[in-house]
Formats: sequence, C-alpha cells, structure tokens
Amino acid sequence: MRRLILISLALGAASATLVITGSSSQAESNRWQSPIPGSSIVRVFDMTSNYGPGHRGVDLAAKENSSVYAVAAGTVTWSGKVAGRTTITIDHGEERSTYEPVTASVSNGDRVSRGDHLGTLAAGHGECLPACLHLGRIRDGTYLDPAERFEASEGYRLISPIGPPPKPPALLNSSGSLPTNGHITSPFGMRTDPFTKVQRFHDGTDIGAPCGQPVFSVASGVVTHAHARGGYGLLVEVKHAGHTTTGYAHLSAVNVTVGERVERGTLLGKVGTTGRSTGCHLHFMKRDRGRAVDPQVG
Ligand SMILES: [Zn+2]
Ligand SMILES: [Zn+2]
Repeated sequence: MRRLILISLALGAASATLVITGSSSQAESNRWQSPIPGSSIVRVFDMTSNYGPGHRGVDLAAKENSSVYAVAAGTVTWSGKVAGRTTITIDHGEERSTYEPVTASVSNGDRVSRGDHLGTLAAGHGECLPACLHLGRIRDGTYLDPAERFEASEGYRLISPIGPPPKPPALLNSSGSLPTNGHITSPFGMRTDPFTKVQRFHDGTDIGAPCGQPVFSVASGVVTHAHARGGYGLLVEVKHAGHTTTGYAHLSAVNVTVGERVERGTLLGKVGTTGRSTGCHLHFMKRDRGRAVDPQVG
C-alpha cells in the first residue's frame, strides 16, 4: 500500500517536471500581451521583398493619447527620438520590442514588468486614422513579425498563406452581418473626408482589418461586379433578393467572378487598400434599389 503511494507520487513529480520544461509551456511564456489592449492590426509586418520599402513591424490603430503598455518584462534600453520620432525600446533578453510614436513616461535603464505603462500614443505614424502604434520586434539585429508573439485570445487574426482555409468570422454565425472581423473605424453617413478634410457623405461602413484577411458575402446572391472601379479600388458587388446589393471595396484580391452564385459566408476576396484608401480596411456598402443605405441597419 505504502509502496504504491510512493510510486504514484514519483510519477506525479516526473510528469509535472515534463510539463514545466516542455516546449509548449516555454512557447506560452514567450507570449506578448497587446501594447494597446482592444486595438486592431491595420497594417501587417511585411519583409517579404528585399526591394520594396516593406514594413518592419505591425501598426495597431487606436485613439491618440491611448496608454501604451509593455508587451513583456524587460529593461528600457532606449527612450528618445530616432529620426525625429519618439521611440521606446525594451530589451527582453533574446528579443527587443520597439514602440513608436509614443510620449514616453519611462527612462533609459528602467525595469518594466509585462503590462507596465510606458507612455501614451502620439499621432504621426503612417496614414493611420485616428492614430497608430508601430510595434517592432528585433532579434540579433533582424526584424521579425510581432504578431507571432501575440496571444491567440487577443483577437488578432492574421491569415497564413499556408495551412487550412480561413473560416467565416463568428459574426456571420450570429444575426450580425459584418463581412470580415474588425472594428468599425468609420460609420456610414456624413464625415470629415480623410483626404480633403471637408464634410462629405461616406457611402459605406469602414472596418479596420489587416490586408489579406478574408472577406465573406453577408448573404446569398449573384456576383455582379468583380474588378477595379475608380476610388473603390478592387470591388466586388453582390445582388441579393429584394432589390438589395452589397459592395466590398479596396480589396487586395478577388476570389469570385461575375455571374457566380454565392452563399452567406462565401469567400469573396481579401482586405486591401486599393483605390482611394488611407490604409488596410474594408469599405462595406449596401444599396436598396440603387440608393446607399447604412449597412449596419437591417
Ligand atoms: Zn508601421
Ligand atoms: Zn469607407
């Protein structure tokens, strides 16, 4: 009896040791928290081309003056201006994270814990509206994709070019009708035009989402347009029953052809920034007998 208990205790200790040192738990401890919880990636990491300018990090859209937090514990190794922009760098050991543009409230040499307040988001990165944090990840002088370090639960949803095909977003499974995951960055109606800064009618709903993220039809119908159209860039239009059409603009890729029948949840294309666009997003439109209506209503 006593011998049996000893054996089970020894086994218990052995399996516990395995769990602690196992590669999966090590990967978990490398996870980064979001520097601005609730923000969405509006521009993805792109170092695939040696010739283009690329993008050495990810851009997270948020309001100006949003609090910026440390993605993991480390030491502040730089807090100051780089090429006129205020940047914070944190050394985590093997890797470093960088944050810009930020009004810093930490100084060189400060020790920070995961989630510590580093400063507030300043305007001025890229073409972002209202503002964007550029988050970088560096290992041995090489830029890597910060999104690989994020928790799956943070809601980041970046599409790998390999692996299983993407599933329609959860929104389509409920009574909701958004064609892609993301936050509404500009609703339907009158707004200040991002290019001209004058009041202008916005004939759709903007959903901030990374370029390449799949876009799905919100209802069944027939594809009536599937190529570029002026400021809309690459545009897919679907005609539904009851004199309504939906439009999906600024796409980076189109996966359907004119005349094709689609169902609710059929992949139409990928989020992009083609046409008159300031960054990766979907401009989603709905028309009733040709008249633009709010896609978020009905
Ligand atoms: Zn950036
Ligand atoms: Zn729009």
